[in-house]
Amino acid sequence: MDFERLHQRAIECVQQFKSAESELISILQQIDRGKGFRCLGYASLFEYSTKALGLSESHSYALITVCRKSNQVPQLKKAIEEGLINTSQARRITSVITPENQAEWIGKAASLNQKQLEREIIQSNPKEAVKEMIKPVSPQRMKLVCGIPEKLMQDIERVKDLESQKKRKAVTLEETLQELVSFYLERQDPVKKAQRALTKPTLSSPSRREDKQDHPRQTPIPTRIKQEVTTRDQGQCTAQTPDGKRCEQKRWIEIHHLHPVAQGGGHTTDNLATLCHHHHKLMHEPNRLSQPFSRRMEAPCK
Ligand SMILES: [Zn+2]
Ligand SMILES: [Zn+2]
Repeated sequence: MDFERLHQRAIECVQQFKSAESELISILQQIDRGKGFRCLGYASLFEYSTKALGLSESHSYALITVCRKSNQVPQLKKAIEEGLINTSQARRITSVITPENQAEWIGKAASLNQKQLEREIIQSNPKEAVKEMIKPVSPQRMKLVCGIPEKLMQDIERVKDLESQKKRKAVTLEETLQELVSFYLERQDPVKKAQRALTKPTLSSPSRREDKQDHPRQTPIPTRIKQEVTTRDQGQCTAQTPDGKRCEQKRWIEIHHLHPVAQGGGHTTDNLATLCHHHHKLMHEPNRLSQPFSRRMEAPCK
């Protein structure tokens, strides 16, 4: 084995890898700035990075964090390009670096080892001491780690006390969290609310105030129709990303008319679809073809 030759080749690969990565950060920055991921049919830069580029979630997260931080602190990207620091070192200092202290933090990232650097970061930003983490420990159980302020812990302890009192036994932290989450979802989850409402008989009170609409000047979508749409779509965006998968977004949810009301479309469950804010915006972009939504997102711009 010619290890010297392999070593030379490895060095070349690392150089190519580093320059490709810093070019990728520049490309992501441009796509992010122009919201180009929407033109390509993805709801977010993260979705684009994981689905269209096939990068892992953690790698995507690191690249996006660095690329966005570099908008505020261009020296960060420059330090990667010049080979002073690598992407993971850059990602680590994103929580503390500012235009004012950039030279100091880039210097620390370049000179300290990982442990020393992390210690410095925690000193300057204690929130960084505990990294949020959810890790499977068995098929049915997860390990959850997160840092919380003291006041929140006191509040959780209070709930634990009240719950123990109610159940007449000492409850665990897990049981307390379960109780808190169920309590919240029972009251706030629109899917649960809609399911509950649909099992009740309808009240004929058309004058009831409706929720905020996505098309303000139109007559509001009747609550019951909205509940049916929410239940059918399970509160999740129904758009399809270009890789053929359903958009996973359950946040920033809006209701969209497939056939616009202005063109005679009605408030019927068939004409309504749950969309996330990004996909909804995409549907209303002026250069989109105004044909009925076929549950497939097409790129509105080339
Ligand atoms: Zn709409
Ligand atoms: Zn979506």
